[in-house]
Amino acid sequence: MMEKIKPVRVRFAPSPTGRLHLGGGRTALYNYLLAKKTGGMFILRIEDTDQKRYVASAEKEIIDGLHWLGIDWQEGPDVGGDYGPYRQTDKKALYRQYAEQLIEQGDAYYCFCSSERLAEMKQAQQKRKEFPHYDGRCRDLPLEEARKRIEAGEKYVIRFKTPKEGTTTVRDLVRGEITVENRTIDDYIIVKSDGWALYHLAAMVDDHMMKISHVIRGSEWIPTLPLHHLIIRAFGWDEPEWVHLSLFLKPDGKGKLSKRESAELMKDGYSIFLTDFIELGYLPEAVTNWIALMGWSYDDHTEIFTLDELVNAFSVDHLNPAPAAINFTKLDHFNGVHIRRLTIEDLAARVKPFFEKAGIDADDAALLKIAPIIQERMVTLDEAVSLAGFFFRDEVNPKAEDLIQKGLTAGQCAEIAEKSYAVLEKLPAIGVEVGEPEMRALVAELGLKPAQVFGVLRVAVTGQRVSPPLFESMEIIGKETVLARIKKAVEILRSNA
Ligand code: GLU
Repeated sequence: MMEKIKPVRVRFAPSPTGRLHLGGGRTALYNYLLAKKTGGMFILRIEDTDQKRYVASAEKEIIDGLHWLGIDWQEGPDVGGDYGPYRQTDKKALYRQYAEQLIEQGDAYYCFCSSERLAEMKQAQQKRKEFPHYDGRCRDLPLEEARKRIEAGEKYVIRFKTPKEGTTTVRDLVRGEITVENRTIDDYIIVKSDGWALYHLAAMVDDHMMKISHVIRGSEWIPTLPLHHLIIRAFGWDEPEWVHLSLFLKPDGKGKLSKRESAELMKDGYSIFLTDFIELGYLPEAVTNWIALMGWSYDDHTEIFTLDELVNAFSVDHLNPAPAAINFTKLDHFNGVHIRRLTIEDLAARVKPFFEKAGIDADDAALLKIAPIIQERMVTLDEAVSLAGFFFRDEVNPKAEDLIQKGLTAGQCAEIAEKSYAVLEKLPAIGVEVGEPEMRALVAELGLKPAQVFGVLRVAVTGQRVSPPLFESMEIIGKETVLARIKKAVEILRSNA
């Protein structure tokens, strides 16, 4: 495969206009994987020329989000590199120079049309059912005249002069050839009236100057791909390989996710914003694994990958351009699998912040004991608190209705608790080896079901109906506390009898 031989230079070029979403994370990931796989370079470039949509916190969130996934880069605004600056606002004059070059060559022109005129033109085109496009009024203005108008203080933009005849064909590595008729390509604005270059110019200049070999980006750029091809050709530059990724669809496969739906998702413990997954209790390993498989596959059955395994397995020719529906059930599955792959020490360290956030002071020694008994049951890290918070609380305050087991009265359950107390009290320790056999003997003696007796005990000791394995839990809690909790349960049951 070509990418195995030649180290690539690829970039992730986000616009800091909002939060980093899953699609952006995935674009960054694929670029990173290709760079790693080929021993190439991965570059972070901040495309911040859109002053109106600029969000100050966005760059930090992008960097933090990518680092959380385990992605790093060799060149970028934060790490430097030989092909900088890596922030487009540091290059206004440079883009301007390239725009002037296109004007000199006759591949771009100054346009003085007012926004009112453009709005009228658009309306008229809509009425005639034409696709919206610039009608070319300023396209053939003599350059001398245009320069005079600029000197006189007229406002203007710079437009690319798209050929109006023939067709343009561009090859996408995943999608094959894309051909359009040139008359359908608009004379796009490449420099706005505020003097800032637009993406179409700035990104092409940057990709050229940064020697980008492969542009891997979102499918929203397919419509303007022919324009980009023409701009590059006008400069006489080498064209990068193009890869346009698949679109993300809503979980039901119908359309793109809206902002409102994102808020709804958050209530269910999901999100489309990358850094939300940290507090929702997902592992970066799982999120990486999950987004990698939204638009790429290794074969028809291998699903679990670490980042290093992805580097080895990745290839551009296995990218799938078909739209991919976001599947959160799959994410949960991956998260569980990756949680079970963690060492006990690692799991203990990762759940700790969730206890802290819940106001529980969980000491490391206890967490190391608890981690192995919750590891099998967890889907997300935050569940450690609901599963195992009782280990750290002074009192568990069980509810009478939880203590009372199916088919039994409160009085009978109180009796079970008292008898359990009597059995456990005599033992030197309580746990799986000493404790469980004696309690099983009690179950037999009482002629009850294990679920009934252990049900009372579980709720008494943990305060909840669902818990990690009972005897392992009791061993960690310690005999004294276990007995005190059973005693309390007896009181609750008696007062409800
Ligand atoms: N700034 C563009 C965006 O955020 C980058 C697209 C590209 O990768 O070229 O969509």
